Amino acid sequence: MPATDGTPEDAPRPAGGARTGDRPRAVVVGGGLAGITTALRLAEAGVAVTLLEGRPRLGGLAFSFRRGDLAVDNGQHVYLRCCTAYRWFLDRVDGARLAPLQDRLDVPVLDVGHPRGPRLGRIRRDPLPVPLHLARSLAAYPHLSLAERLSVGRAALALKKLDPADPALDGVDFATWLGRHGQSRRTVEALWDLVGVPTLNAAAPDASMGLAAMVFRTGLLSDPGAADIGWAHVPLGHLHDTLAGKVLDGLGVRTLLRTKAERISRTEDGRWTVDVPGERVEADAVVLAVPQAEAHGLLPEGALDDADRLLDIATAPILGLHVVYDRKVLKQPFFTALGSPVQWVFDRTDSSGLTGGGQYLAISQSAAHDDIDVPVAALRARYLPELERLLPAARGAGVRDFFVTRERTATFAPTPGVGRLRPAARTRAPGLYLAGAWTATGWPATMESAVRSGFSAAGAALSAFGRRHDHPLQEAA
Ligand SMILES: Cc1cc2nc3c(=O)[nH]c(=O)nc-3n(C[C@H](O)[C@H](O)[C@H](O)COP(=O)(O)OP(=O)(O)OC[C@H]3O[C@@H](n4cnc5c(N)ncnc54)[C@H](O)[C@@H]3O)c2cc1C
Repeated sequence: MPATDGTPEDAPRPAGGARTGDRPRAVVVGGGLAGITTALRLAEAGVAVTLLEGRPRLGGLAFSFRRGDLAVDNGQHVYLRCCTAYRWFLDRVDGARLAPLQDRLDVPVLDVGHPRGPRLGRIRRDPLPVPLHLARSLAAYPHLSLAERLSVGRAALALKKLDPADPALDGVDFATWLGRHGQSRRTVEALWDLVGVPTLNAAAPDASMGLAAMVFRTGLLSDPGAADIGWAHVPLGHLHDTLAGKVLDGLGVRTLLRTKAERISRTEDGRWTVDVPGERVEADAVVLAVPQAEAHGLLPEGALDDADRLLDIATAPILGLHVVYDRKVLKQPFFTALGSPVQWVFDRTDSSGLTGGGQYLAISQSAAHDDIDVPVAALRARYLPELERLLPAARGAGVRDFFVTRERTATFAPTPGVGRLRPAARTRAPGLYLAGAWTATGWPATMESAVRSGFSAAGAALSAFGRRHDHPLQEAA
Protein backbone atom coordinates (compact mmCIF):
# COMPACT_ATOMS: atom_id res chain seq x y z
CA MET A 1 0.00 0.00 0.00
CA PRO A 2 1.14 3.57 -0.53
CA ALA A 3 2.42 5.61 2.38
CA THR A 4 -0.59 7.00 4.15
CA ASP A 5 -1.22 10.02 6.29
CA GLY A 6 -4.51 8.74 7.67
CA THR A 7 -7.24 6.78 6.00
CA PRO A 8 -10.37 8.83 5.38
CA GLU A 9 -13.72 7.18 5.78
CA ASP A 10 -14.40 6.95 2.09
CA ALA A 11 -11.05 5.41 1.22
CA PRO A 12 -11.42 2.75 -1.44
CA ARG A 13 -10.59 -0.63 0.07
CA PRO A 14 -7.05 -1.87 -0.39
CA ALA A 15 -6.61 -3.71 -3.62
CA GLY A 16 -6.23 -7.09 -1.94
CA GLY A 17 -3.35 -9.04 -0.44
CA ALA A 18 -1.88 -9.96 -3.82
CA ARG A 19 -1.41 -6.28 -4.56
CA THR A 20 0.41 -5.29 -1.35
CA GLY A 21 3.08 -2.81 -2.38
CA ASP A 22 1.27 -2.01 -5.63
CA ARG A 23 0.46 1.50 -6.63
CA PRO A 24 -3.23 2.35 -6.43
CA ARG A 25 -4.94 2.26 -9.79
CA ALA A 26 -7.37 4.81 -11.19
CA VAL A 27 -9.39 5.04 -14.37
CA VAL A 28 -10.23 8.50 -15.65
CA VAL A 29 -13.09 8.52 -18.15
CA GLY A 30 -12.99 11.47 -20.57
CA GLY A 31 -9.94 13.13 -22.10
CA GLY A 32 -11.08 16.76 -22.06
CA LEU A 33 -9.23 19.32 -19.95
CA ALA A 34 -10.89 18.02 -16.78
CA GLY A 35 -9.89 14.43 -17.43
CA ILE A 36 -6.37 15.30 -18.59
CA THR A 37 -5.81 17.40 -15.47
CA THR A 38 -7.14 14.65 -13.22
CA ALA A 39 -4.91 12.07 -14.89
CA LEU A 40 -1.88 14.36 -14.63
CA ARG A 41 -2.40 15.05 -10.96
CA LEU A 42 -3.01 11.41 -10.06
CA ALA A 43 -0.04 10.18 -12.05
CA GLU A 44 2.23 12.84 -10.55
CA ALA A 45 1.27 11.46 -7.12
CA GLY A 46 2.25 7.94 -8.11
CA VAL A 47 -1.14 6.50 -9.04
CA ALA A 48 -1.24 4.11 -12.02
CA VAL A 49 -3.70 5.83 -14.34
CA THR A 50 -5.67 4.64 -17.36
CA LEU A 51 -7.28 7.50 -19.29
CA LEU A 52 -10.18 6.57 -21.56
CA GLU A 53 -11.29 8.90 -24.33
CA GLY A 54 -14.04 8.03 -26.79
CA ARG A 55 -12.70 10.22 -29.59
CA PRO A 56 -9.47 9.81 -31.52
CA ARG A 57 -7.86 12.74 -29.70
CA LEU A 58 -7.53 14.47 -26.36
CA GLY A 59 -8.88 17.94 -25.69
CA GLY A 60 -12.64 17.39 -25.51
CA LEU A 61 -14.53 20.55 -26.41
CA ALA A 62 -11.36 22.53 -27.14
CA PHE A 63 -9.78 20.87 -30.16
CA SER A 64 -8.54 21.38 -33.71
CA PHE A 65 -9.09 19.65 -37.02
CA ARG A 66 -7.70 20.00 -40.51
CA ARG A 67 -9.54 21.48 -43.44
CA GLY A 68 -7.21 21.06 -46.38
CA ASP A 69 -4.03 22.91 -45.42
CA LEU A 70 -5.76 24.84 -42.66
CA ALA A 71 -5.56 23.91 -38.96
CA VAL A 72 -8.94 24.97 -37.60
CA ASP A 73 -10.07 25.26 -33.98
CA ASN A 74 -13.60 24.05 -33.29
CA GLY A 75 -14.15 27.46 -31.72
CA GLN A 76 -12.04 30.40 -30.66
CA HIS A 77 -10.96 29.95 -27.04
CA VAL A 78 -9.59 32.72 -24.85
CA TYR A 79 -8.62 32.82 -21.21
CA LEU A 80 -7.85 35.59 -18.74
CA ARG A 81 -4.89 36.26 -16.51
CA CYS A 82 -7.11 35.41 -13.52
CA CYS A 83 -7.53 31.85 -14.89
CA THR A 84 -4.79 30.54 -12.64
CA ALA A 85 -5.71 26.87 -13.03
CA TYR A 86 -5.71 26.95 -16.83
CA ARG A 87 -2.41 28.85 -16.69
CA TRP A 88 -1.05 26.09 -14.46
CA PHE A 89 -2.17 23.63 -17.14
CA LEU A 90 -0.43 25.60 -19.88
CA ASP A 91 2.77 25.69 -17.85
CA ARG A 92 2.51 22.01 -17.03
CA VAL A 93 2.28 21.01 -20.70
CA ASP A 94 4.99 23.55 -21.60
CA GLY A 95 2.51 25.53 -23.68
CA ALA A 96 2.35 28.93 -21.92
CA ARG A 97 4.58 30.66 -24.45
CA LEU A 98 2.32 29.37 -27.25
CA ALA A 99 -0.77 30.97 -25.71
CA PRO A 100 0.52 34.29 -24.39
CA LEU A 101 -1.43 36.93 -22.49
CA GLN A 102 -1.79 40.52 -23.60
CA ASP A 103 0.61 42.80 -21.67
CA ARG A 104 -2.41 44.82 -20.69
CA LEU A 105 -6.15 44.39 -21.32
CA ASP A 106 -7.12 46.08 -24.58
CA VAL A 107 -10.35 45.23 -26.39
CA PRO A 108 -11.34 47.22 -29.49
CA VAL A 109 -15.14 47.70 -29.59
CA LEU A 110 -16.49 48.78 -32.99
CA ASP A 111 -20.04 50.18 -33.06
CA VAL A 112 -21.62 50.18 -36.51
CA GLY A 113 -25.11 50.93 -35.22
CA HIS A 114 -24.56 54.62 -34.58
CA PRO A 115 -26.56 57.00 -36.85
CA ARG A 116 -23.47 59.16 -37.42
CA GLY A 117 -21.35 56.28 -38.66
CA PRO A 118 -19.04 53.60 -37.19
CA ARG A 119 -17.17 54.45 -33.98
CA LEU A 120 -14.31 52.62 -32.39
CA GLY A 121 -13.97 52.49 -28.61
CA ARG A 122 -11.68 50.46 -26.38
CA ILE A 123 -11.93 48.71 -23.06
CA ARG A 124 -8.44 48.86 -21.64
CA ARG A 125 -6.71 49.20 -18.37
CA ASP A 126 -4.15 51.50 -16.85
CA PRO A 127 -1.38 50.44 -14.46
CA LEU A 128 -3.42 51.61 -11.46
CA PRO A 129 -5.06 49.83 -8.55
CA VAL A 130 -8.61 48.42 -8.81
CA PRO A 131 -11.02 50.03 -9.68
CA LEU A 132 -9.02 53.01 -10.97
CA HIS A 133 -7.37 50.71 -13.55
CA LEU A 134 -10.56 50.90 -15.65
CA ALA A 135 -11.72 54.40 -14.72
CA ARG A 136 -10.02 56.25 -17.58
CA SER A 137 -11.22 53.71 -20.13
CA LEU A 138 -14.79 53.92 -18.86
CA ALA A 139 -14.69 57.72 -18.78
CA ALA A 140 -13.61 57.75 -22.44
CA TYR A 141 -15.87 54.90 -23.61
CA PRO A 142 -17.71 56.45 -26.58
CA HIS A 143 -20.54 53.91 -26.76
CA LEU A 144 -22.26 55.15 -23.59
CA SER A 145 -23.49 58.59 -22.49
CA LEU A 146 -21.93 60.28 -19.47
CA ALA A 147 -24.93 59.34 -17.31
CA GLU A 148 -24.67 55.72 -18.46
CA ARG A 149 -20.95 55.61 -17.73
CA LEU A 150 -21.54 56.94 -14.22
CA SER A 151 -24.28 54.36 -13.67
CA VAL A 152 -21.90 51.59 -14.79
CA GLY A 153 -19.35 52.79 -12.25
CA ARG A 154 -21.96 52.68 -9.47
CA ALA A 155 -23.14 49.18 -10.47
CA ALA A 156 -19.53 47.96 -10.60
CA LEU A 157 -18.94 49.15 -7.05
CA ALA A 158 -22.13 47.36 -5.91
CA LEU A 159 -20.99 44.22 -7.73
CA LYS A 160 -17.63 44.33 -6.01
CA LYS A 161 -19.38 43.91 -2.66
CA LEU A 162 -21.17 40.69 -3.67
CA ASP A 163 -20.15 37.19 -2.68
CA PRO A 164 -20.52 35.06 -5.87
CA ALA A 165 -20.90 31.95 -3.69
CA ASP A 166 -23.99 33.38 -1.95
CA PRO A 167 -26.74 30.87 -2.86
CA ALA A 168 -29.32 33.69 -2.98
CA LEU A 169 -27.50 35.19 -5.97
CA ASP A 170 -27.71 31.94 -7.91
CA GLY A 171 -31.50 32.24 -8.06
CA VAL A 172 -31.48 35.79 -9.46
CA ASP A 173 -30.86 36.54 -13.13
CA PHE A 174 -28.18 39.02 -14.10
CA ALA A 175 -30.57 41.28 -16.07
CA THR A 176 -32.83 41.74 -13.04
CA TRP A 177 -29.84 42.65 -10.87
CA LEU A 178 -28.57 45.10 -13.49
CA GLY A 179 -32.06 46.65 -13.78
CA ARG A 180 -32.19 47.08 -10.00
CA HIS A 181 -28.87 48.85 -10.20
CA GLY A 182 -29.97 51.40 -12.75
CA GLN A 183 -28.56 49.80 -15.89
CA SER A 184 -30.23 50.82 -19.16
CA ARG A 185 -30.73 48.54 -22.14
CA ARG A 186 -27.82 50.32 -23.77
CA THR A 187 -25.38 49.74 -20.90
CA VAL A 188 -26.35 46.06 -20.90
CA GLU A 189 -25.77 45.80 -24.66
CA ALA A 190 -22.66 47.96 -24.91
CA LEU A 191 -20.87 46.74 -21.82
CA TRP A 192 -22.32 44.03 -19.56
CA ASP A 193 -23.42 41.65 -22.33
CA LEU A 194 -20.39 42.49 -24.42
CA VAL A 195 -18.27 40.80 -21.74
CA GLY A 196 -20.94 38.54 -20.22
CA VAL A 197 -22.17 36.76 -23.35
CA PRO A 198 -18.79 35.32 -24.39
CA THR A 199 -17.73 34.44 -20.84
CA LEU A 200 -21.04 33.04 -19.60
CA ASN A 201 -22.44 31.88 -22.96
CA ALA A 202 -25.74 33.56 -22.11
CA ALA A 203 -27.28 37.01 -22.31
CA ALA A 204 -28.03 38.75 -19.01
CA PRO A 205 -31.67 37.56 -18.65
CA ASP A 206 -30.52 33.93 -18.98
CA ALA A 207 -27.54 34.09 -16.64
CA SER A 208 -27.29 33.34 -12.93
CA MET A 209 -26.24 36.42 -10.99
CA GLY A 210 -23.90 34.21 -8.97
CA LEU A 211 -21.93 33.26 -12.09
CA ALA A 212 -22.08 36.79 -13.47
CA ALA A 213 -20.74 38.13 -10.17
CA MET A 214 -17.96 35.53 -10.33
CA VAL A 215 -16.93 36.64 -13.83
CA PHE A 216 -17.09 40.39 -13.29
CA ARG A 217 -15.68 40.45 -9.76
CA THR A 218 -12.80 38.14 -10.56
CA GLY A 219 -12.09 39.43 -14.04
CA LEU A 220 -12.56 43.15 -13.64
CA LEU A 221 -12.56 43.97 -9.96
CA SER A 222 -10.01 41.70 -8.23
CA ASP A 223 -6.55 42.45 -9.54
CA PRO A 224 -5.63 45.12 -12.13
CA GLY A 225 -4.29 42.53 -14.58
CA ALA A 226 -6.98 39.93 -14.01
CA ALA A 227 -8.79 40.49 -17.30
CA ASP A 228 -5.75 40.59 -19.59
CA ILE A 229 -6.67 38.22 -22.41
CA GLY A 230 -4.68 35.24 -23.61
CA TRP A 231 -5.28 32.92 -26.52
CA ALA A 232 -3.50 30.16 -28.38
CA HIS A 233 -1.20 31.28 -31.18
CA VAL A 234 -1.07 27.66 -32.30
CA PRO A 235 -3.94 25.26 -33.01
CA LEU A 236 -5.68 24.32 -29.73
CA GLY A 237 -5.00 20.67 -30.50
CA HIS A 238 -1.28 21.31 -30.22
CA LEU A 239 -1.74 22.34 -26.58
CA HIS A 240 -4.56 20.06 -25.46
CA ASP A 241 -3.77 16.95 -27.49
CA THR A 242 -0.13 16.86 -28.65
CA LEU A 243 1.61 18.54 -25.69
CA ALA A 244 -0.78 17.19 -23.05
CA GLY A 245 -0.44 13.68 -24.52
CA LYS A 246 3.34 13.94 -24.34
CA VAL A 247 3.27 14.84 -20.63
CA LEU A 248 0.78 12.06 -19.87
CA ASP A 249 2.98 9.58 -21.72
CA GLY A 250 5.99 10.80 -19.77
CA LEU A 251 4.16 10.12 -16.52
CA GLY A 252 3.32 6.61 -17.66
CA VAL A 253 -0.43 7.22 -18.05
CA ARG A 254 -2.01 4.55 -20.22
CA THR A 255 -4.11 6.63 -22.61
CA LEU A 256 -6.66 4.75 -24.69
CA LEU A 257 -8.18 6.82 -27.47
CA ARG A 258 -11.28 5.78 -29.45
CA THR A 259 -12.22 3.92 -26.28
CA LYS A 260 -15.60 4.61 -24.78
CA ALA A 261 -16.45 3.55 -21.25
CA GLU A 262 -19.67 1.58 -21.51
CA ARG A 263 -20.32 0.56 -17.93
CA ILE A 264 -18.91 1.21 -14.49
CA SER A 265 -19.49 -1.26 -11.68
CA ARG A 266 -18.45 -1.69 -8.08
CA THR A 267 -17.01 -5.06 -7.23
CA GLU A 268 -17.87 -6.98 -4.09
CA ASP A 269 -14.51 -6.15 -2.56
CA GLY A 270 -15.16 -2.42 -2.96
CA ARG A 271 -13.10 -1.82 -6.07
CA TRP A 272 -14.25 -0.75 -9.53
CA THR A 273 -14.40 -2.12 -13.04
CA VAL A 274 -14.85 -0.11 -16.19
CA ASP A 275 -16.05 -1.93 -19.30
CA VAL A 276 -14.71 -0.75 -22.62
CA PRO A 277 -15.09 -2.66 -25.89
CA GLY A 278 -13.08 -5.87 -25.54
CA GLU A 279 -11.67 -5.16 -22.07
CA ARG A 280 -12.62 -4.82 -18.43
CA VAL A 281 -10.31 -2.34 -16.69
CA GLU A 282 -9.95 -2.72 -12.93
CA ALA A 283 -9.33 0.18 -10.61
CA ASP A 284 -9.35 1.34 -7.02
CA ALA A 285 -10.91 4.63 -8.06
CA VAL A 286 -12.79 5.97 -11.08
CA VAL A 287 -13.12 9.61 -12.10
CA LEU A 288 -15.92 10.43 -14.50
CA ALA A 289 -14.76 13.49 -16.44
CA VAL A 290 -17.47 13.39 -19.10
CA PRO A 291 -20.34 15.80 -19.83
CA GLN A 292 -23.28 15.72 -17.44
CA ALA A 293 -25.61 13.63 -19.61
CA GLU A 294 -22.90 11.00 -20.16
CA ALA A 295 -22.07 11.03 -16.45
CA HIS A 296 -25.73 10.41 -15.69
CA GLY A 297 -25.70 7.42 -18.04
CA LEU A 298 -22.61 5.90 -16.43
CA LEU A 299 -23.20 6.58 -12.73
CA PRO A 300 -24.09 3.49 -10.77
CA GLU A 301 -27.32 3.45 -8.78
CA GLY A 302 -27.16 5.50 -5.59
CA ALA A 303 -23.92 7.32 -6.43
CA LEU A 304 -25.66 10.69 -6.12
CA ASP A 305 -28.61 11.65 -3.95
CA ASP A 306 -30.62 12.65 -6.98
CA ALA A 307 -28.71 11.76 -10.13
CA ASP A 308 -31.61 12.86 -12.35
CA ARG A 309 -30.86 16.45 -11.40
CA LEU A 310 -27.81 16.23 -13.67
CA LEU A 311 -30.23 16.11 -16.57
CA ASP A 312 -31.67 19.46 -15.48
CA ILE A 313 -28.33 21.12 -16.23
CA ALA A 314 -29.09 22.44 -19.71
CA THR A 315 -26.55 23.16 -22.43
CA ALA A 316 -25.92 26.21 -24.61
CA PRO A 317 -24.48 26.44 -28.14
CA ILE A 318 -21.58 28.34 -29.68
CA LEU A 319 -21.39 28.89 -33.42
CA GLY A 320 -18.12 29.48 -35.25
CA LEU A 321 -18.01 31.23 -38.61
CA HIS A 322 -14.78 30.91 -40.52
CA VAL A 323 -13.84 33.13 -43.45
CA VAL A 324 -10.67 33.01 -45.54
CA TYR A 325 -10.18 36.24 -47.49
CA ASP A 326 -7.75 36.64 -50.35
CA ARG A 327 -6.14 39.63 -48.62
CA LYS A 328 -5.66 41.21 -45.21
CA VAL A 329 -8.88 42.89 -44.10
CA LEU A 330 -8.26 43.24 -40.35
CA LYS A 331 -5.20 44.82 -38.75
CA GLN A 332 -6.00 44.07 -35.08
CA PRO A 333 -5.62 40.57 -33.63
CA PHE A 334 -9.29 40.71 -32.61
CA PHE A 335 -12.22 43.03 -31.99
CA THR A 336 -15.80 42.91 -30.84
CA ALA A 337 -18.80 44.56 -32.47
CA LEU A 338 -21.88 46.52 -31.46
CA GLY A 339 -24.88 47.23 -33.67
CA SER A 340 -24.22 44.03 -35.63
CA PRO A 341 -25.07 40.37 -35.12
CA VAL A 342 -21.31 39.70 -35.31
CA GLN A 343 -19.90 39.23 -31.79
CA TRP A 344 -16.13 38.62 -31.61
CA VAL A 345 -13.74 38.40 -34.59
CA PHE A 346 -10.24 36.91 -34.35
CA ASP A 347 -7.39 36.81 -36.84
CA ARG A 348 -6.35 33.13 -37.00
CA THR A 349 -4.09 33.45 -40.05
CA ASP A 350 -0.76 32.55 -38.44
CA SER A 351 -2.08 29.92 -36.02
CA SER A 352 -3.89 28.09 -38.81
CA GLY A 353 -0.82 27.85 -41.01
CA LEU A 354 -2.54 29.68 -43.87
CA THR A 355 -0.07 30.22 -46.67
CA GLY A 356 -0.17 32.07 -49.99
CA GLY A 357 -1.33 35.41 -48.58
CA GLY A 358 -4.85 36.15 -47.49
CA GLN A 359 -6.33 36.27 -44.02
CA TYR A 360 -8.35 33.77 -41.99
CA LEU A 361 -10.90 35.25 -39.60
CA ALA A 362 -12.77 33.20 -37.01
CA ILE A 363 -16.01 34.72 -35.72
CA SER A 364 -17.25 33.46 -32.38
CA GLN A 365 -21.00 33.63 -31.75
CA SER A 366 -21.90 32.70 -28.18
CA ALA A 367 -25.39 31.84 -26.94
CA ALA A 368 -26.18 31.23 -30.62
CA HIS A 369 -29.55 29.54 -30.05
CA ASP A 370 -31.13 31.29 -33.07
CA ASP A 371 -28.34 30.55 -35.55
CA ILE A 372 -26.99 27.17 -34.51
CA ASP A 373 -29.08 25.19 -37.01
CA VAL A 374 -29.18 27.75 -39.83
CA PRO A 375 -27.78 26.32 -43.10
CA VAL A 376 -24.30 27.44 -44.18
CA ALA A 377 -25.60 29.30 -47.25
CA ALA A 378 -27.96 31.39 -45.15
CA LEU A 379 -25.24 32.15 -42.60
CA ARG A 380 -22.93 33.17 -45.41
CA ALA A 381 -25.57 35.44 -46.92
CA ARG A 382 -26.15 37.05 -43.55
CA TYR A 383 -22.66 37.38 -42.10
CA LEU A 384 -20.42 38.25 -45.07
CA PRO A 385 -22.24 41.57 -45.65
CA GLU A 386 -21.99 42.22 -41.90
CA LEU A 387 -18.23 41.71 -42.02
CA GLU A 388 -18.09 44.15 -44.93
CA ARG A 389 -20.01 46.65 -42.82
CA LEU A 390 -17.49 46.24 -40.01
CA LEU A 391 -14.33 45.97 -42.09
CA PRO A 392 -14.14 48.35 -45.07
CA ALA A 393 -11.19 46.37 -46.49
CA ALA A 394 -13.41 43.28 -46.79
CA ARG A 395 -15.64 45.06 -49.31
CA GLY A 396 -13.48 44.44 -52.33
CA ALA A 397 -11.89 41.24 -51.04
CA GLY A 398 -12.46 37.78 -52.45
CA VAL A 399 -13.74 35.04 -50.13
CA ARG A 400 -11.68 31.90 -50.67
CA ASP A 401 -13.51 29.81 -48.12
CA PHE A 402 -16.47 30.11 -45.75
CA PHE A 403 -17.42 27.35 -43.35
CA VAL A 404 -19.01 26.93 -39.95
CA THR A 405 -18.40 24.94 -36.78
CA ARG A 406 -21.42 24.16 -34.64
CA GLU A 407 -21.04 23.20 -31.00
CA ARG A 408 -24.59 22.60 -29.85
CA THR A 409 -23.55 21.60 -26.34
CA ALA A 410 -20.58 23.93 -26.01
CA THR A 411 -21.18 24.74 -22.36
CA PHE A 412 -23.66 24.11 -19.62
CA ALA A 413 -26.31 26.84 -19.64
CA PRO A 414 -25.56 29.22 -16.75
CA THR A 415 -29.26 29.65 -15.97
CA PRO A 416 -30.41 31.04 -12.63
CA GLY A 417 -30.55 28.16 -10.18
CA VAL A 418 -27.91 26.06 -11.95
CA GLY A 419 -25.58 26.35 -8.94
CA ARG A 420 -27.61 23.99 -6.80
CA LEU A 421 -27.62 21.38 -9.59
CA ARG A 422 -23.83 21.20 -9.99
CA PRO A 423 -22.39 18.29 -7.99
CA ALA A 424 -19.11 18.27 -6.09
CA ALA A 425 -16.24 15.95 -7.01
CA ARG A 426 -17.07 13.35 -4.35
CA THR A 427 -20.01 11.07 -4.92
CA ARG A 428 -21.71 8.86 -2.35
CA ALA A 429 -19.91 5.86 -3.81
CA PRO A 430 -16.45 5.48 -2.22
CA GLY A 431 -13.77 5.73 -4.88
CA LEU A 432 -16.02 7.32 -7.53
CA TYR A 433 -15.52 10.99 -8.40
CA LEU A 434 -16.86 13.54 -10.86
CA ALA A 435 -14.98 16.16 -12.86
CA GLY A 436 -15.93 18.48 -15.71
CA ALA A 437 -16.46 22.17 -16.28
CA TRP A 438 -20.09 21.63 -15.28
CA THR A 439 -19.34 20.39 -11.75
CA ALA A 440 -19.38 22.66 -8.70
CA THR A 441 -16.32 24.82 -9.27
CA GLY A 442 -18.08 28.17 -8.90
CA TRP A 443 -16.87 29.10 -12.39
CA PRO A 444 -18.90 29.23 -15.60
CA ALA A 445 -18.22 26.53 -18.20
CA THR A 446 -14.67 27.43 -19.12
CA MET A 447 -11.29 25.81 -19.52
CA GLU A 448 -10.56 27.24 -16.07
CA SER A 449 -13.54 25.43 -14.59
CA ALA A 450 -12.53 22.17 -16.29
CA VAL A 451 -8.98 22.30 -14.92
CA ARG A 452 -10.18 23.29 -11.45
CA SER A 453 -12.60 20.37 -11.45
CA GLY A 454 -9.67 18.08 -12.29
CA PHE A 455 -7.74 19.44 -9.29
CA SER A 456 -10.74 18.72 -7.04
CA ALA A 457 -11.39 15.21 -8.32
CA ALA A 458 -7.73 14.23 -8.17
CA GLY A 459 -7.39 15.80 -4.71
CA ALA A 460 -10.40 13.86 -3.41
CA ALA A 461 -9.08 10.58 -4.83
CA LEU A 462 -5.59 11.16 -3.46
CA SER A 463 -6.93 11.96 0.00
CA ALA A 464 -8.90 8.72 -0.10
CA PHE A 465 -5.77 6.84 -1.16
CA GLY A 466 -3.96 8.47 1.73
CA ARG A 467 -1.48 10.04 -0.66
CA ARG A 468 0.07 13.33 0.26
CA HIS A 469 -0.61 16.07 -2.26
CA ASP A 470 -0.60 19.84 -2.38
CA HIS A 471 -3.06 21.95 -4.26
CA PRO A 472 -1.23 23.01 -7.43
CA LEU A 473 -2.29 26.63 -7.08
CA GLN A 474 -0.83 26.75 -3.58
CA GLU A 475 2.36 25.24 -4.91
CA ALA A 476 2.49 28.02 -7.48
CA ALA A 477 1.78 30.75 -4.91
C1 LIG B 1 -16.84 26.59 -29.44
C2 LIG B 1 -16.43 26.69 -28.01
C3 LIG B 1 -15.83 27.86 -27.56
C4 LIG B 1 -15.43 27.95 -26.22
N1 LIG B 1 -14.78 29.07 -25.82
C5 LIG B 1 -14.21 29.09 -24.60
C6 LIG B 1 -13.35 30.16 -24.24
O1 LIG B 1 -13.13 31.10 -24.99
N2 LIG B 1 -12.77 30.11 -23.02
C7 LIG B 1 -12.98 29.08 -22.15
O2 LIG B 1 -12.37 29.08 -21.07
N3 LIG B 1 -13.79 28.05 -22.47
C8 LIG B 1 -14.41 28.03 -23.67
N4 LIG B 1 -15.21 26.99 -24.02
C9 LIG B 1 -15.55 25.98 -23.00
C10 LIG B 1 -14.44 24.96 -22.80
O3 LIG B 1 -14.00 24.43 -24.03
C11 LIG B 1 -15.01 23.82 -21.95
O4 LIG B 1 -15.59 24.32 -20.77
C12 LIG B 1 -13.95 22.80 -21.53
O5 LIG B 1 -13.11 22.45 -22.61
C13 LIG B 1 -14.68 21.55 -20.99
O6 LIG B 1 -13.75 20.56 -20.63
P1 LIG B 1 -14.23 19.23 -19.90
O7 LIG B 1 -13.05 18.39 -19.76
O8 LIG B 1 -15.01 19.61 -18.69
O9 LIG B 1 -15.31 18.55 -20.85
P2 LIG B 1 -15.19 17.99 -22.33
O10 LIG B 1 -14.28 18.86 -23.10
O11 LIG B 1 -16.60 17.86 -22.81
O12 LIG B 1 -14.53 16.56 -22.19
C14 LIG B 1 -15.25 15.40 -21.95
C15 LIG B 1 -14.63 14.27 -22.75
O13 LIG B 1 -15.26 13.05 -22.40
C16 LIG B 1 -15.31 12.24 -23.55
N5 LIG B 1 -16.31 11.20 -23.31
C17 LIG B 1 -17.65 11.34 -23.19
N6 LIG B 1 -18.22 10.15 -22.90
C18 LIG B 1 -17.21 9.24 -22.83
C19 LIG B 1 -17.16 7.85 -22.55
N7 LIG B 1 -18.27 7.14 -22.28
N8 LIG B 1 -15.95 7.23 -22.56
C20 LIG B 1 -14.81 7.91 -22.83
N9 LIG B 1 -14.82 9.25 -23.10
C21 LIG B 1 -16.00 9.90 -23.09
C22 LIG B 1 -15.66 13.22 -24.64
O14 LIG B 1 -15.33 12.70 -25.93
C23 LIG B 1 -14.81 14.43 -24.24
O15 LIG B 1 -13.54 14.40 -24.86
C24 LIG B 1 -15.66 26.88 -25.33
C25 LIG B 1 -16.28 25.72 -25.79
C26 LIG B 1 -16.64 25.62 -27.11
C27 LIG B 1 -17.26 24.36 -27.59
